[in-house]
Amino acid sequence: MLRKLLALTLLFTTIPSAQAAPVYVFPVPNCEVNYARAHHDYPATDILAKAGCRFVAPTSGIVDEVNRIDTWRSPPNLGITRGGLSVSIIGDDGVRYYGSHLRSIPLSIEPGVVVKAGRFLGTIGSTGSARGTAPHLHFGISWPTPADTWWVRRGVVLPWKYLEAWKSGKDLSPVKEVNAKREKLGELPSEPSK
Ligand SMILES: [Zn+2]
Repeated sequence: MLRKLLALTLLFTTIPSAQAAPVYVFPVPNCEVNYARAHHDYPATDILAKAGCRFVAPTSGIVDEVNRIDTWRSPPNLGITRGGLSVSIIGDDGVRYYGSHLRSIPLSIEPGVVVKAGRFLGTIGSTGSARGTAPHLHFGISWPTPADTWWVRRGVVLPWKYLEAWKSGKDLSPVKEVNAKREKLGELPSEPSK
């Protein structure tokens, strides 16, 4: 009986408290940032920040795709090259988070690496189609697709309200909206012509 009571006491004392760490964090911490509600052509957010500011994992998960080489040229401005240096992770929530136009990516960030929210993924820059523009992080939220599916990876729902929440320390999940969009567009929408 005493042992049972002790086990119960232990069980109840290990339940996480309300002060548990947030699940989501703002992806460009400790830097002055500027970002708009809207994005050209499709849903995403360009987070303007000084070159060298850090892009961190917005939530815990696993590194998905890493591109360390900038092959962008215009013309032909190929969709697959536009991100320049980029990293995507698949969150424990099943959502894919993508950051591009990076200046550098740590060597430790490779596909398959498990990351915690706040893990350093790269520095803000202007690679890919951002060449010659103000340094910014292109931030996209989507569902996981096969490698190089750039037209889904670049973003399918507007990150704005999530970014606003995370920035003010609120824990808002995009899971519902991402799932609804996947239902609507289909698992693998066809590649756009431009
Ligand atoms: Zn963008």
